[in-house]
Amino acid sequence: MKSLFRLLGFDTLRKEYAYGDDPVLGYTSIRRQAERWVRSTCGYCSVGCGMDLGVRGNQIVAVKGWDGHPVSHGKLCPKGLSEHHTLSAPDRAQHPMLRNKNGKLQRVSWPEALAALTARFRESQRRHGAHSMGVISTGQLLTEEFYALGKLIQLGFGTRNYCGNTTLCMASAVSGYKRSFGSDGPPGAYEDFRTADVTLLVGANIADNHPILCQHLDANAGGYLMVADPRVTKTAMMANLHLPLKPRSDIALLNGMAHVIIRNGLVNRDYVEKHTEGYARLRQFLLEKYPLERVAALTGLDPQTIAHAGRMFGHARRGMIAWTMGVNHSTQGAETVSAIANLSLLTGQVGHSGASPFSITGQCNAMGTREAGFTSSLPGYRKFEKKSDREELAALWRVSADRIPEARGLAYPDIIEAAVSGGIKSLWIIATNPIVSYPNQEQVKKAFRNLDFLVVQDGFHPTPTSEYADLVLPAAIWGEKEGTYTNSERRVGKANAAVKPPAEARSDFDIFFDVAATLGCKDELFPSWAGPEDAFNEWRRVSKGRLCDYSGMTYAALEAEGGLQWPYPEGTTGNAVSRLYSNGRFEFEDGKARLHTVENDPFPDGTDTRYPMILNTGRTVEHWHTRTKTSQVAILERMAPNAWLEMNPVDAKALALESHARVDIVSRRGAVRGVELRVTEITAPGQVFMPFHFFETNVNEVTHDAFDPISREPNYKQCAVRVEPAARR
Ligand code: SF4
Repeated sequence: MKSLFRLLGFDTLRKEYAYGDDPVLGYTSIRRQAERWVRSTCGYCSVGCGMDLGVRGNQIVAVKGWDGHPVSHGKLCPKGLSEHHTLSAPDRAQHPMLRNKNGKLQRVSWPEALAALTARFRESQRRHGAHSMGVISTGQLLTEEFYALGKLIQLGFGTRNYCGNTTLCMASAVSGYKRSFGSDGPPGAYEDFRTADVTLLVGANIADNHPILCQHLDANAGGYLMVADPRVTKTAMMANLHLPLKPRSDIALLNGMAHVIIRNGLVNRDYVEKHTEGYARLRQFLLEKYPLERVAALTGLDPQTIAHAGRMFGHARRGMIAWTMGVNHSTQGAETVSAIANLSLLTGQVGHSGASPFSITGQCNAMGTREAGFTSSLPGYRKFEKKSDREELAALWRVSADRIPEARGLAYPDIIEAAVSGGIKSLWIIATNPIVSYPNQEQVKKAFRNLDFLVVQDGFHPTPTSEYADLVLPAAIWGEKEGTYTNSERRVGKANAAVKPPAEARSDFDIFFDVAATLGCKDELFPSWAGPEDAFNEWRRVSKGRLCDYSGMTYAALEAEGGLQWPYPEGTTGNAVSRLYSNGRFEFEDGKARLHTVENDPFPDGTDTRYPMILNTGRTVEHWHTRTKTSQVAILERMAPNAWLEMNPVDAKALALESHARVDIVSRRGAVRGVELRVTEITAPGQVFMPFHFFETNVNEVTHDAFDPISREPNYKQCAVRVEPAARR
């Protein structure tokens, strides 16, 4: 395994940037020397790195890695190291703004803003029904905020139509875990990257997207790394074996590897018999339908390579499979997760060191909303459809059980579709930016234009989405508020307020508190809460006995230990690495995991002579999502100021295009104009790649709004396009 981590230069950046040094001027000015240090957790991605924030007055002037932190061991990536610059950005939202009769956003007081919010939502519900109101939140609030918001929406407003942008990134992992293991919850730990004999990464470019995870792979000197990705990503360059499969053929590859494992007698029969259900059906399906020749034709890989990959995983004493958006961003995302789980279950690679089917989450607290929110499950992974779960939750909250819904409400894409068709009339958007991130932009713009009332609550204004708002609520962001984030390995980390938010901005927690007070339900929802720690302590009681049991955690222990992994029941001490399903008992009633037969289907927006190329979208290390935060950080903007389109030299030659030419990308839905071309063999012939961060040249003008029927996650990763010189317009 090659170490790309050091080649990325993070160590150098760390030295240059950590202690308040100015990487441009080359010295440490007095005004950037910290007076005190505050421990916290990074607020960008789900790796969950520990950091020390250097504070001077009411300003964070420096960030450095938390030495000895169990996740990051003192390192941070470029985004983490420069995160404090987001706090003082000129585009921070400072005051509540309400749209006046002339159509202009105008500054109002908090009481006026809260009165407008509650009156307009209530009016919408009175005229069009309780479920004419929707909420789309995020994976970037604190768990205490998600918990409070879930109660506010369900018990306060009485609507089920609450979802988050996590549906755009992690819903397939959630659904896949539920289908295979009976519950959401990643089974493994980061330590598994260090101890696995064989690691398979599927659709996971962690060098760009989860950079600090690379150090765990780096530490696995004898491990064998296989990377399945259509592109030669930085992560693929780290691999012992890169599997450059055709777009949307990962199910075929996983089925082919499982076929090899069965054919070669590498199935862990004892484990399969004791702990799974469905083996005979799966065996017959794989042997009949996924012979190597067919898998080779579907994936574009040669049969020997597929057989080698299957045997490597089948012979591993400790085998790890991890994935991110290459798997999730698909109309078959949940099924692909089931195919991954099949491979782990067939070989008994679940619940011990170096063995896990492991979803690497996207946002810093996508896990928190999954645990505590009201979106894909009831709080504590309780099931909507299970009466005893609803009754238990109602008893904990001392409310009538009929106030707990029996089914989830609309998922994010269904809220957008309902807004287009008129079923949703008022919408509250919290810390997310659909007017960049939603696929097929025309649809979401139509939805917003159709609404009677749109609230946007964000740390920044204006954003492309807040421009559509009738009411803008200014929110505090990371560094300005206190609570917890859960990272990909179920580690709950403490985030702390080091400085005060600007002007009239408030923490999301305080905003929910004040909305409840304005609605008149604060005492019922948030009884005797004075702040986030009270919400955390109630959440500990609500999670007690559940898979995501927090009951033994305290704020003080989280700070002292650099986070603790759940389950952490009352009476637990220490900070041992924890894994789920180590006893082979899964979350179905009979305790057995389910093996699923999964067919490899073509992606829905296929190529033809007018749209002959497959467009893939993704991220780059310098930026975060829609750049609301990272566009405000000069050093990151300088490194990646514009979007680009990657194209293989074979295609560039056929189209008579050269590097740095400006091109248009046209799909069946729209076009992105004037994008810079990069001619590179990173991307295979017939495919092009573009990062999705940039509003100015927004790839989601062309992406396809097809969704996974199980998880409702969009198919961002493949759509048909043509590329032409920009001058041809
Ligand atoms: Fe923050 Fe993720 Fe970078 Fe760690 S890897 S510093 S959590 S953005």
